[in-house]
Amino acid sequence: MRFSKLLIPTSKEVPNDATLASHIYLIRGGFIQSVGGAGLYNFLPLGKKILDKVRAVVKDELDKAGCQEVALSFVTPANLWQESGRLEKYGKELLRFKDRKDNDFILGPTHEEMMVNMVRQTIKSYKQLPLNLYQINLKFRDEIRPRFGLMRGREFLMKDGYSFHASLEDMQREFAYMEKTYKKIFTRLGLDFRVVEADSGAIGGSGSKEFMVLADSGEDTIVVCDSCDYGANIEAAIAKPKVYDTSTEVNTVVMKALYDEGKSSIVTFVLPSGITLQEVKACHSVGANELVEYDSSTKSSVVVIEETLGAAVNPSDYDADEMFYEDISSVCEGDSCVHCSGTLRYSKGIEAGHIFQLGTQYSKALGCNFLDENGKSVPMEMGTYGIGVSRLLAAIIEQNHDDKGCIWTKESAPFDLQIIVSNIKDEGQMALGEKLYGAMKAKGVDVLLDDRKDRYGAKMKDYELIGVPHAVVIGKNLADGKVEFMTRKEMLKEEVSAENILSFLQERF
Ligand code: ATP
Ligand code: MG
Repeated sequence: MRFSKLLIPTSKEVPNDATLASHIYLIRGGFIQSVGGAGLYNFLPLGKKILDKVRAVVKDELDKAGCQEVALSFVTPANLWQESGRLEKYGKELLRFKDRKDNDFILGPTHEEMMVNMVRQTIKSYKQLPLNLYQINLKFRDEIRPRFGLMRGREFLMKDGYSFHASLEDMQREFAYMEKTYKKIFTRLGLDFRVVEADSGAIGGSGSKEFMVLADSGEDTIVVCDSCDYGANIEAAIAKPKVYDTSTEVNTVVMKALYDEGKSSIVTFVLPSGITLQEVKACHSVGANELVEYDSSTKSSVVVIEETLGAAVNPSDYDADEMFYEDISSVCEGDSCVHCSGTLRYSKGIEAGHIFQLGTQYSKALGCNFLDENGKSVPMEMGTYGIGVSRLLAAIIEQNHDDKGCIWTKESAPFDLQIIVSNIKDEGQMALGEKLYGAMKAKGVDVLLDDRKDRYGAKMKDYELIGVPHAVVIGKNLADGKVEFMTRKEMLKEEVSAENILSFLQERF
């Protein structure tokens, strides 16, 4: 493509709400454009191209793994969510609206109900299972704090997959296979990532795994072992239990626990002093949807004591209707690994994917049954698998940028090669540019020819900002029969004779 014809509105201006490199460069590089409303973006041609490339990698690996692509209606009838019980539970992230006939609808933030609805109408027998269906489609979540550009949008592109099985074992086999498939996807995209155990609510164990792209700017804290491959989101991380004696000092945290249908209770959490409460674990310990801070002088109805405290506390010190022990503490840096006694450390990650063993929760609620080998009607076992496709654009840049701009990885780059003609009025420069452009295009290489009238300096700045992996610079040195071949990542320049540049490129690509 020719730069002169493309809509690539690069700019020097840093958007005033942007702090992350990916947010700044995606806007400055003319990849995306803010719509005005928080968390809503337009994709300009380059952004769309990259989104399509990332999507193609995801699709290719999933199709190879036997998954089938479908497209579910984005507008979802609210009654499906009523059936699953999530309509009330999901809270304010769910955008609800009515049509002209006063029917209730939502914009899908995830599509378990819709996919189950599709399958319950089409699958009758164990002979038709297993089945793994996915879509790569818009999601809408009315996030409380949309921020960081594509990282946490309100409208975003997600790959969401759902698998259906005749047995728990078969679902677990597919779950392991999806983990493998996801590893291939993130490896192809050139990402440095780690698979970690995630919070899986009632399921427990390793029924839920997250794919974390390692980056200091990540919103998630992950706990990793320095000597084995244990890794977990802090929300799910465990360490070798510490032993506390009777002289241990304790701290209490009082919280209001919120449940369905507006119910609530006051809970006191008791921890060894110096250890912080892990809110997700604490939430699960009392089966609540959310915890909010509360006046500590209030009498609690429930007392939850960190399980490792054991004999170190005297239960009669607490006055409550109910009292029990549970793991509610955050793992600290320096704690010992449960698997190998190695040292645990914190690291920051961007959640790019999530795989989850769902079980029969949705199939039971929505009556998604099949006839087993004995002719008995039973609910299907399900798995669910997500990838944040638009978030991946931000994650790639968080991991691959410098102070000048983006450095796209091979499979995500908007072009394979950029040809920069320094001065388009110089006939020799332009002729060589056109020749290389035509020849490389004919070879199937995706080339961007910078044929704009601008100064060389401005073109170079745009090259650095946009971040195409390689460039050929045709400039003044052409008079001496020389051009330059550049790699964006290291900003290395290699002098090549103009005579040989075509064969040099043909060898390289
Ligand atoms: P987070 O903890 O970041 O809010 P989540 O647990 O809500 O993520 P899932 O419901 O598992 O996310 O969604 C699947 C994937 O969709 C996530 O792994 C993430 O990559 C992506 N994703 C989730 N929320 C957003 C968002 N607001 N903007 C962009 N991508 C998102
Ligand atoms: Mg979320």
